[in-house]
Amino acid sequence: MRTEDKESRRLHITGVVQGVGFRPFVYRLAVERGLTGWVLNGERGVDVHVEGNSEQLDDFTEAIRARPPPAARIASFEITADAIDGFDSFEIRESERAHAPTVRVCADLPVCDACLRELFDPHDRRYKYPYMNCTDCGPRYSIVRALPYDRAQTTMRDWPMCDACRREYEDPLDRRFHAQPVACSQCGPSYVLEREGDRIRGGEAIADAAQLLCRGAIVAIKGLGGYHLACDAHNATAVRALRERKYRKERPFALMVRDTVRAKEIVHVDARAEEWLHSPARPIVLLRQRVALAGVAPESDEFGVMTAYAPVHHLLFDAGAPPVLVMTSANRSSEPIAYRDDDARNSLASIADAMLVGEREIARRVDDSVVSSIGVIRHSRGHAPQAVATLPVSSPILATGADLKNAIALVVNGQAFLSQHIGDLEHLDAFGSFKKTIDDFCELYDVDVAETLIAHDAHPQYRSSAYAMELGEHGCSVQHHRAHIASVLAEREAFEPTVLGFAFDGTGYGEDGTIWGGEIFAGNLSDGFERIAHLRPALLPGGDAAAQFPVQAAAGFLFCHPELSQMSGLFTKTPFAFPVRYRDALELLKKNVRVFTTTSMGRLFDTVAALLGFTRGITFEGQAAMWVEHLARCSARVAPYPFPFQGGELDYCPLLSQIVADRTAGRDVREIARAFHGAIVRGVLAAVEAFDFEHVVISGGVFQNALLVEELAVALGDRLWTNRLIPSNDGGICIGQATIAAFTPNR
Ligand code: ZN
Ligand code: ZN
Ligand code: FE
Repeated sequence: MRTEDKESRRLHITGVVQGVGFRPFVYRLAVERGLTGWVLNGERGVDVHVEGNSEQLDDFTEAIRARPPPAARIASFEITADAIDGFDSFEIRESERAHAPTVRVCADLPVCDACLRELFDPHDRRYKYPYMNCTDCGPRYSIVRALPYDRAQTTMRDWPMCDACRREYEDPLDRRFHAQPVACSQCGPSYVLEREGDRIRGGEAIADAAQLLCRGAIVAIKGLGGYHLACDAHNATAVRALRERKYRKERPFALMVRDTVRAKEIVHVDARAEEWLHSPARPIVLLRQRVALAGVAPESDEFGVMTAYAPVHHLLFDAGAPPVLVMTSANRSSEPIAYRDDDARNSLASIADAMLVGEREIARRVDDSVVSSIGVIRHSRGHAPQAVATLPVSSPILATGADLKNAIALVVNGQAFLSQHIGDLEHLDAFGSFKKTIDDFCELYDVDVAETLIAHDAHPQYRSSAYAMELGEHGCSVQHHRAHIASVLAEREAFEPTVLGFAFDGTGYGEDGTIWGGEIFAGNLSDGFERIAHLRPALLPGGDAAAQFPVQAAAGFLFCHPELSQMSGLFTKTPFAFPVRYRDALELLKKNVRVFTTTSMGRLFDTVAALLGFTRGITFEGQAAMWVEHLARCSARVAPYPFPFQGGELDYCPLLSQIVADRTAGRDVREIARAFHGAIVRGVLAAVEAFDFEHVVISGGVFQNALLVEELAVALGDRLWTNRLIPSNDGGICIGQATIAAFTPNR
């Protein structure tokens, strides 16, 4: 090519573009087209200098845009003319990294199609090798011990590469160029089946595990971010045994199938669900059942389904494992997921018949992500530690979240990174993960916590708040429900609009010291949010502990009802048959001992659940509300109960009297549940009408109820703003805390 025909361009690409194979991808495109120049990871994305004729350059930039690596997400793409330097080749340059790059480690990735082909190619040297990966796939966040992200700093450091692997690792044209966890059966880790004192290593281990599953055994299987407990979902005896051994009475089990084709056999999969099932996070997707599987999801019309994402899963199915596997996080009851081999051996000894132990260590636990038809419910594997929002703030902010469903957030250069699901901080182990995740994030994003603004919940007894205050003096206390509203605004980058916000959840510390949970706010991020209305206050005997027992909440709500409180004896008889706990709660109310004031919408759902027959204790958070939603879904639309909005209060008394009357008269409980859902929608719409704001924000755990959200969306259209990628439950609250802190003056 004559020099005078040459042009030179500079590309600057931002987004999730580091640690996802972007540089070798650019390199290959350049080399294929005979272009010269360089590519490097810059401070804020990928920088490219490229020289060639204009046609080739157009083709090159178009190819980058059109087919970026699967895990990459391009946020911006700038092209400028540059001076010609006369390079005679194209090279990958060392990173120019002074401080605080915006993306350092990407989330864990499912095995890619190219690797899958090799996995099942008998002529490939990695045939059936369970730790197969490449630049486009495999573990990332779950194997990083320290930065920078290269092999010596990952859990692969103990497995020196063989010559063949090293050649691939060092060849810029190879699809395993700088794939840090690259390995093969000659040099890398494998799987070991441990059973009754025996250890089998290699391909046989996986084949034997598959056979055990077919015979009804419970097998602990190490995945990317922790252990699962697996069994044949069609084997009711195995499923029941798993429930008994795990002390998990009713909470639904997640399922794993090989691919979306299999998923469609057991659940209804629409286009959006299919996208989720196949997305890089490979989350558990909640979908409507097509078949019955005894004991998998009692009293629910949905299954949580994910598709195989690690090579070991594909190998299990290939080896004849049952086509639908229960794949539930390996732990006892509600403890965090086990991820260390020794811990797993100890804690799962009484649960699993065998353990399929992977020899690659997991650096940190990363549970499966969960999504529903309305959005992300649990942001974890495949999502963490990615940014979920961009905030207009330059100094760093750490937000420590809430104590239930904890997750933390770190804002760096305006990017709000959301951690994996950490869990309930009352568990010592989860609290340990919480502290470690804060340390991890500060290290990953090069932030000095001593100089960071730290946002936390206003609850004085939350561990997450106490720890935030220990960490530093730059604290910002954020009221729980305002943080829920702000999480939606952050996600939409709606930093200016004044909105009407509904924060409905089970519990949160209110600024008057009472238990809030049915709150209506007006305001914006700069001026703050004023609580302008709320659920009519009720009493709650036993306080937050009442969340375990719907009848306890019912005692409090019915006690506050002018007429129903006179009929308290009615509720111990049919059809209500409230157990003795209800009478004990009434005693507390009458003596005014351990009685708290609440505006919790979650407890109103519990009250209705109790009236409709859910009179036992719950075995997992949100169970009673989910049960009422399930009932309502089984009914056609019916006329809603009244839920009048007056004097700044949503009054639940009329709907409770009607429910009591209808139930006594023998009306179908599914219809009652449906009419109750209609009432909630009606109440929200009445408040919307009373205040007349353009934008309506809803957030909080109650709005994981898809029936409510769908009906509100129909009524309000584009005016309704909800969470999509940030959980509306307390798992997303750290983002709201950080957002409010970012707008708090004089911070
Ligand atoms: Zn791959
Ligand atoms: Zn090797
Ligand atoms: Fe909440």
